[in-house]
Amino acid sequence: MPLQPARTVDELRELKELTGDENGAQRVAWTETWERAREWLRGKLAAVPAEEQIDAAGNQWFTLRGASEQALLIGGHLDSVPNGGWLDGCLNVTAGAEVLRRLAEEGEPAVTVRLVNWADEEGARFGRSLFGSSAAAGSMRDQDELRQLTDRDGVSLPDALAAHDVDLDRATEARGQLENAAAYLELHIEQGPVLESLDLPLGVVLGTFGVERHRVTWTGQAAHAGSTPMDKRRDALAGAAKLALDIRRIAAETGDGAVCTSGGVVCRPGIVTSVVETAEQLLDQRHLDAAKLTAMLAEARRAADAFAAEEQIDVSWERIWGIEPILFDDDLLALADEAVTDVSGASHRLPSGPLHDAAEVSRAGIPTVMLFVQSLRGLSHTKLEDTKPEHLELSVRALDALAAKVLAA
Ligand SMILES: [Zn+2]
Repeated sequence: MPLQPARTVDELRELKELTGDENGAQRVAWTETWERAREWLRGKLAAVPAEEQIDAAGNQWFTLRGASEQALLIGGHLDSVPNGGWLDGCLNVTAGAEVLRRLAEEGEPAVTVRLVNWADEEGARFGRSLFGSSAAAGSMRDQDELRQLTDRDGVSLPDALAAHDVDLDRATEARGQLENAAAYLELHIEQGPVLESLDLPLGVVLGTFGVERHRVTWTGQAAHAGSTPMDKRRDALAGAAKLALDIRRIAAETGDGAVCTSGGVVCRPGIVTSVVETAEQLLDQRHLDAAKLTAMLAEARRAADAFAAEEQIDVSWERIWGIEPILFDDDLLALADEAVTDVSGASHRLPSGPLHDAAEVSRAGIPTVMLFVQSLRGLSHTKLEDTKPEHLELSVRALDALAAKVLAA
């Protein structure tokens, strides 16, 4: 049987029916609906001579033994955010299942091929993304914090994991899974508007953005809104407002896809009759180039100092979170360009703003690449998330072509 990309689209619709409702996909990790999705995948691959294994972090693996122990990995995630879309994560799991079926029909592959359904990519319930892939990659170092996490109903993460036979203390034993990995491939919807604006169905992902996330606290003086003349004010919000606008200039001058977001400002005392005394501003900056990301942060700090002086207020910075840019493998990027060009006539390279499991695998030193398929209107994490069926079929062909090229290399 040759590859049947239309079957992947049918299966995605089937999964949507099985695990979604009128508000969208409900496959939140460590829930019964998520377990139902894993059971569904197990059924889909029952006829394929691939061994199933759930590892110590809850990742679901299907291994098709090849002539060599060296393994080609294809990975995605069946978990979704609440009220999520029908494609985020599960496209690659179902497309990978189709590739596995095609390979199994052709007899023993040259190298072992493994499909992985990563556990809890989204972190929707406990706020910790990339759970299963970080455990396998060896970058999970926050088990003390993870032990304290609870969901909205007060259920602790360790208890939620235990209900699915995962022991948090042993999760990092999943690390053994990447031992023989020679390459990792991940197909994902773009979740942004770039490919649609270029009228291209498919793209090759250069890597994932580095992120600098800070809390910028501006401190002025609370004063009566009626009795304080305009030139006597030390208004903390003025600094935050100037920076919120100036990051547009900073991103534009940095270029190459730079993005800066002032995601929120909390003002105190926060009443209509007072000048703002403190303004806590959240700043998120992203770039694919580590040096440019560092320079962009330095420029924001320099601008903030200038605004603080102009407004006679103080400013302080606290780093909330950060991750370095992760660049995918050059050789795999070249093969991915060939595969995408073969099936759709043209290839375009673009960075990924969101993080993906592929970033964790790449961090572990496994040669990695991702393919993106166009998202309509750039929407994701909503039931409005969509991709044209013909583009989904092309994406399955591209993943299969890429897997064939990697196996031949
Ligand atoms: Zn995803």
